[in-house]
Amino acid sequence: MNLIQIALPVPLNRYFDYFLPSDTQAVIGTRVVVPFGNQKKIGIVVGFPEQTDIPKNKLKPILSVLDENPLFDDEIWQLLQWSANYYHAPFGEVLQSALPVKLRQGESCERVVADQFVVTEMGQKALLNGILNRAKKQQQLLTELTKFANSFEKPTACSPSAWKGLLEKGFIEKIAVSFESKSWLDKLENREQCNADNRLRLNKQQSLVVSRLQYQKGFGVFLLNGVTGSGKTEVYLQVIETVLAKGQQVLVLVPEIGLTPQTIARFQARFNVEIDTLHSNLNDTQRLNVWLRAKNGESAIIIGTRSALFSQFENLGLIIIDEEHDSSFKQQDGWRYNARDLAVLRAKNNNIPIVLGSATPSLESVQNVKNGKFTELLLQNRAGDAQLAQQFVIDLKTQQIYSGVSQQLLSMMKTHLEQGNQVMLFLNRRGFAPVLLCHECGWICECNSCEKPYTYHQQKNVLRCHHCASQKIIPRQCGHCGSTNLITTGVGTEQLEQELVQQFENYKITRIDRDSTVRKGALDKHLSDIQQGKSQILIGTQMLAKGHHFPNVTLVAIVNVDSALFSTDFRAEERLAQLYIQVAGRAGRAEKKGTVVLQTHYPEHPLLKSLLTKGYDEFSKTALEMRQLMHLPPFSAQVLFKATGRDNEKVANFLENMTAYFQQQIATYQWQGFQILPPMTAPMAKKAGQYRWQLLIQHSSRAMLQKLLTQFDLDKGQIEVPSNIRLVVDIDPIDFN
Ligand code: ADP
Ligand code: ZN
Ligand code: ZN
Repeated sequence: MNLIQIALPVPLNRYFDYFLPSDTQAVIGTRVVVPFGNQKKIGIVVGFPEQTDIPKNKLKPILSVLDENPLFDDEIWQLLQWSANYYHAPFGEVLQSALPVKLRQGESCERVVADQFVVTEMGQKALLNGILNRAKKQQQLLTELTKFANSFEKPTACSPSAWKGLLEKGFIEKIAVSFESKSWLDKLENREQCNADNRLRLNKQQSLVVSRLQYQKGFGVFLLNGVTGSGKTEVYLQVIETVLAKGQQVLVLVPEIGLTPQTIARFQARFNVEIDTLHSNLNDTQRLNVWLRAKNGESAIIIGTRSALFSQFENLGLIIIDEEHDSSFKQQDGWRYNARDLAVLRAKNNNIPIVLGSATPSLESVQNVKNGKFTELLLQNRAGDAQLAQQFVIDLKTQQIYSGVSQQLLSMMKTHLEQGNQVMLFLNRRGFAPVLLCHECGWICECNSCEKPYTYHQQKNVLRCHHCASQKIIPRQCGHCGSTNLITTGVGTEQLEQELVQQFENYKITRIDRDSTVRKGALDKHLSDIQQGKSQILIGTQMLAKGHHFPNVTLVAIVNVDSALFSTDFRAEERLAQLYIQVAGRAGRAEKKGTVVLQTHYPEHPLLKSLLTKGYDEFSKTALEMRQLMHLPPFSAQVLFKATGRDNEKVANFLENMTAYFQQQIATYQWQGFQILPPMTAPMAKKAGQYRWQLLIQHSSRAMLQKLLTQFDLDKGQIEVPSNIRLVVDIDPIDFN
């Protein structure tokens, strides 16, 4: 009997044996359908073992083979295998996550042929000229459609009348598509790869950086540390040009909300090659097509968010990670990989260079420069002749405060607005107020499932839990003493907006947060209102901080920095510094100097001071020294075990048992240098009715930590996870909530 071994997408760290019926053939890396309990599951063939522990009469046959050829090439297969080991995730889950949804669901990996459309030149102009200002739906849809780098299909969720309108006006049109798969080089035919006219003349620092990167042969990690506006993108484009000229492909990873139409447009304007984008607006068919195109060598450049890392290439020549410090590169559920770290590994396996770009590099990367693993390339000047913003700290102590805004900030806003400029305020809290409480007895209206205060949403007139998304009507009476004297405390973006509406009657306000951008297309609409100067005051959570460039904003304020200064998360200060520098980089332009304002009760805080007086690089030095003193990453490697369940005591006990297990292993092997923090409740101790506990283990050596975890994998049977407890293993965690 021929045995066959399958990796299944189940949370068990093992393979499953079946037999291969004599008339069936399969190769490693293809999908098969197998019986699993009383279900059918799709798995991936990983081997053909000689023997199995399963008795012959219990061994089941696979039901069908879905692919003729492997779906994974050797390179990606090895990367995924390594990842499964490093992140201690089941290989079956890892493999599945690297496939487009359609393939996970068992659909054929043949190209799906559907009608393809493009936005016409007339359509592009219509958007710019505001011709559709009176046809909001069409305008929104067209804006949405311009995000596709190539042709697109009719989106599943779009207004039929808007679609029809755009077609009739000739703003979009159907194109003829041929589906012969040609490599991107062949498709070029006689066109030039690059529109040289659009190239910018590099300044001296840019030239040095570009030639250093062009000169690089083989693997090398480069940290492109360049202030906002220093022309990092131009550097990417010119380096990409030389990679394409060698016939090689390029992978560009960007943060979750960094894939703006402007970015895509810049790439398209520069190159005549096939560019594909992978972002959340694609439907499953489109994702499958992009996946296939990359695998067949049809795309020259792939620009995408985190999961685009798993695209396959014929001949990859360069990886670029823009805004490498961004936390969206870390996957936060399922298997918790860090796309930035894996990208470095991928570059190494391919023996190609990788560029990590940022104005505010992560402390991890700064440390890697220090220890010689990464090469730093600096761009210290703003390209063009934009000036650095002026900074300003408002000491909130004893100031009169209006919904979070001081009198001083209000007058600064007034000055900037009267000069015809825009102002932008950041507040990292949506809703009207984060707490509703009783003015008589102090009772707080809490979500029972999370034991955290409900956020008061005035516009929708509800209470919402921001942790489990549950809603509640607003109570009239205190749940404790019955008083009707209920008040809110704290300030959210809704309240800030309301206050500013009163303070600045003659100006329009745009608020950008998760509540104001729920509807598809709403974000783009808000952003274009700002670009076109239709609104003058912008309020936003950090959603607004990334990627967008607003040349007329001359005043930027971070309304509340104190919460970050006193956070339990050791990365909070790093994130505040990054936010500050990012927003500062967006204030002002060549003719108009920008101003950045911080409001705090603690202007003397040492990290704030070092950031403000000496800049980010100095801040990161100071912060790294503190991390080293406290044995925190990047000076230690961490694993965080997160256990959740409905029975608080059982969850705690389970992690106690795990702790005992780890202590015993460490004693048995006489391993030195491990730090085990006893199990603790998570900062969010309860969420959606589940009690949450954590166990953190760290060691200065990544290899030692892996040794312990590998032992843990081998011993899994000994510490069985009870069926009513969910255990998550998070390697190199960044989310401690
Ligand atoms: P970054 O990505 O570092 O924030 P960008 O690449 O977006 O910076 O460049 C910022 C601005 O400077 C852009 O408007 C870009 O067109 C311009 N720019 C970049 N390089 C040059 C250059 N060498 N000469 C003139 N303008 C430049
Ligand atoms: Zn009360
Ligand atoms: Zn809740």
